[in-house]
Amino acid sequence: MAWDFSTEPEFQEHLDWMREVVREEVWPLETLSHELEWDQLMRALAPVQEQVRERGLWAAHLEPELGGQGFGQVKLGLMHEILGTSPLAPFAFGNAAPDSGNSEILALAGTPEQKERYLYPLLAGDVRSAFSMTEPETAGSDPTQLRTRAVKDGDEWVIDGHKWFSSNGSIADFLIVMAVTDPEARRYQRASMFIVPADTPGVEIVRDVPTMEHPWESWAKYGNHAEIRYQDVRVPADALLGAEGAGFLIAQQRLYPGRIHHCMRWLGVSRRAFDMLCEYSLLREAHGSTLSEKQTVQNWIADSAAQMDAARLMTLHAAWKMDTDGVGAARREISLIKFFGAGVLHDVVDRALQVHGSLGYSTDMPLEAMYRYARGARFYDGPDEVHRESVARQILRGYEAPAGGVPTEHVPTRREAAREKFAHLLEAVTSND
Ligand SMILES: Cc1cc2nc3c(=O)[nH]c(=O)nc-3n(C[C@H](O)[C@H](O)[C@H](O)COP(=O)(O)OP(=O)(O)OC[C@H]3O[C@@H](n4cnc5c(N)ncnc54)[C@H](O)[C@@H]3O)c2cc1C
Repeated sequence: MAWDFSTEPEFQEHLDWMREVVREEVWPLETLSHELEWDQLMRALAPVQEQVRERGLWAAHLEPELGGQGFGQVKLGLMHEILGTSPLAPFAFGNAAPDSGNSEILALAGTPEQKERYLYPLLAGDVRSAFSMTEPETAGSDPTQLRTRAVKDGDEWVIDGHKWFSSNGSIADFLIVMAVTDPEARRYQRASMFIVPADTPGVEIVRDVPTMEHPWESWAKYGNHAEIRYQDVRVPADALLGAEGAGFLIAQQRLYPGRIHHCMRWLGVSRRAFDMLCEYSLLREAHGSTLSEKQTVQNWIADSAAQMDAARLMTLHAAWKMDTDGVGAARREISLIKFFGAGVLHDVVDRALQVHGSLGYSTDMPLEAMYRYARGARFYDGPDEVHRESVARQILRGYEAPAGGVPTEHVPTRREAAREKFAHLLEAVTSND
């Protein structure tokens, strides 16, 4: 009997330590993030980073030969649940996006030379990276429509295209660019990945796109999302990352585990919002009782707890399946948690914000920022609708329309069949003797 929901004691110790250090050393820095420059913030995190390294928890998503722990997805998931509680925590643990995902791509597909030149400096924090795939003119949810082209010209590739939402693009030292190398190939073998140093002639960072999360105009800040034009960008043949035509395959290898990490981080955010919801409901009084005594608020608390528990179990199960049967085996589970987890995050933060009234809407509480953050989760890394569609298609493969045009469970038809099947018994039980 192998069902087991426990965490091994040594790892639980790490988790307990992480929870404590993130709460005590990282959460307080959030409140200073507007008065400190990014580099100052990172310097303030340095003592925690030191402790994280000493514990062997730095960049834990990587394999041991790259300085990580080779933890499976279940352990990483449990870690991400804690890291998700603060936007700063991933920086303390060496696995902040997009550098963490890009380092995984380089580890997976990079040549020894590419690892030397890009991966190791990235892991050391000496350079920054961006992943440049989404285009304003084509649907990101259907990447087979990509228009950015890379054409071979002698020993070089020439890249032309228009991208946006390349997170950290304006501060990156290099960009991992997805471009079509063979438009005639099968749908998922048309694109390839290239490593493009940001100072390559023809790379134009047009702007950082203001968003719901960061609605003000800003330039070259950590976490910004860049619009980029690639015009006649020439890179050598060895800029190709992985095999020609393997762009989607590599992206999938990165995105599947990434979705587990996202979902567990969202649970960390949800939990923090939930704690605020419960605490404030006990404090605020209206119409003769605290909010905690109103049935609606009690429903919010119970529904949130149930949704978070469900999302947590589903996500850890997906992680376990990935660890046990491989990345591809958990495809359906990953799609399920991607849209379900994003919905839970949204709902829990929304209720927590609502219970706080105007205080929740104000920046005196972190809830409005959580709400803006939560909204994007419903479409980045695949919109809800696409994941639902994918899950439904996979499920429907196990069904077929009933022969004869009558639903299998149609009661009159079943009754008729039962009468025939049990005719001899029916005769006995309905006779009068
Ligand atoms: C915070 C943030 C960070 C990001 N970082 C990066 C990054 O670093 N690099 C990068 O390349 N990209 C990045 N992106 C872009 C992101 O990956 C895309 O936004 C996402 O893939 C969706 O693509 P799209 O925006 O073009 O939406 P579209 O594909 O145009 O979809 C628009 C809407 O159409 C609907 N829709 C689509 N397909 C279906 C369907 N089959 N059925 C029903 N409805 C459907 C959905 O409601 C969807 O939201 C980021 C986005 C955000 C918000």
